[in-house]
Amino acid sequence: MPKLAIDGGKPVRDTILPYGHQLIDEDDVSAVAQALRSDWLTTGPRVDEFEEAFAERVQGQHAVAVSSGTAALHAAIFAIAIGPGDEVIVPPITFAASANCVVYQGGTPVFADVEPDTLLIDLNRVQEKITPRTRAILAVDYAGQPCDYDGLATVAKDNGVALIADACHALGADYHGRAVGSLADITTFSLHAVKHITAGEGGVCSTNDERLGERMRIFRNHGIMQDFRQREALGSWFYEMTELGFNYRLTDIQSALALSQLKHLDDWIARRREIAHEYDRAFAAIAGVNPLVTQSGRGHAHHLYVIRVERDGLGVDRRRLFEALRCEGIGVNVHYIPVHLHPFYRSRQGTGPGLCPVAEAAYETILSLPMFPAMTDRDVGDVITAVAKVTSSI
Ligand SMILES: *Cc1c(COP(=O)(O)O)cnc(C)c1O
Repeated sequence: MPKLAIDGGKPVRDTILPYGHQLIDEDDVSAVAQALRSDWLTTGPRVDEFEEAFAERVQGQHAVAVSSGTAALHAAIFAIAIGPGDEVIVPPITFAASANCVVYQGGTPVFADVEPDTLLIDLNRVQEKITPRTRAILAVDYAGQPCDYDGLATVAKDNGVALIADACHALGADYHGRAVGSLADITTFSLHAVKHITAGEGGVCSTNDERLGERMRIFRNHGIMQDFRQREALGSWFYEMTELGFNYRLTDIQSALALSQLKHLDDWIARRREIAHEYDRAFAAIAGVNPLVTQSGRGHAHHLYVIRVERDGLGVDRRRLFEALRCEGIGVNVHYIPVHLHPFYRSRQGTGPGLCPVAEAAYETILSLPMFPAMTDRDVGDVITAVAKVTSSI
């Protein structure tokens, strides 16, 4: 058996392969250069152009571009008027922002555990967490797999609460042929560099509800009403701030990049699916390496490729596994520390171990492997070789 790099053996790769990486081409560069040479740097025609193209791609009627995925979540929570005393049901296996956005508006995130096979929010646990104070369910398409939106929509409707989709992992995904972006009252996306397409930083909300769309537009611009007739009647300097909003605008420069990137989305999703297929095939033959399950009818966007490393149903020494893979040149990561275990939530609302046992157990065994469209077949092969090498001797 070859000696592991962590024990002084020869690594599979000499340079580290990151878990995610953006892809920028000359078209992107010239789109940004054109924006820089134009009259518009902040809100200009490219924002509208990007929003239109994005809305069409995700089959949403209204897209609102904002400065980050976190701002998109905040705008969504504002749009459905969450405030003090309101509860929003969220999963614990997600980035902290999915819960933080509720707190921004004074509400309380209520953690509902995930399903063991997919790590998506568990519909039965959601139902158990509904109280008279519940105002919304915020589902997360973890790793890029759409949640059970038919089930979630039914529970939301039966209980008279809103359904928000955090699809920051799932741009380009679909659910029984319907695009993610059209399945919830509001869907949020991120344009961070590690996500499917990037604007450097950025985010988008999509909705089919014109009123919610309008509320999010106002929110991203300080809560200022944009009633042009009123401005005309009262003088062009006139405007009214009707809500407390923020400066969450996306610039024209960023929109130029995002619009150029969007053209590649379908090809990039196809490449991600190819890589996932290679991984699935290889790991089917490696005992103790268990990829997450994809349910039927879900068009997976594969933002992350997550494996659970288990032996006899128990997790292995994940710290050593993680370090051993890094030493082999494989930039693995862990997504995520369950949000309810963070000190902020423990002290704010008394959460802690035992609240979401499935998420807590999964956290001990999960690893995210490199997954991005610019990976070569050789990169994919290196990951498989390193995982086989390390798991057989840890
Ligand atoms: C990336 C991400 C966010 C936040 O997006 P930013 O653009 O980084 O603010 C929120 N939720 C999830 C699930 C994410 O992956």
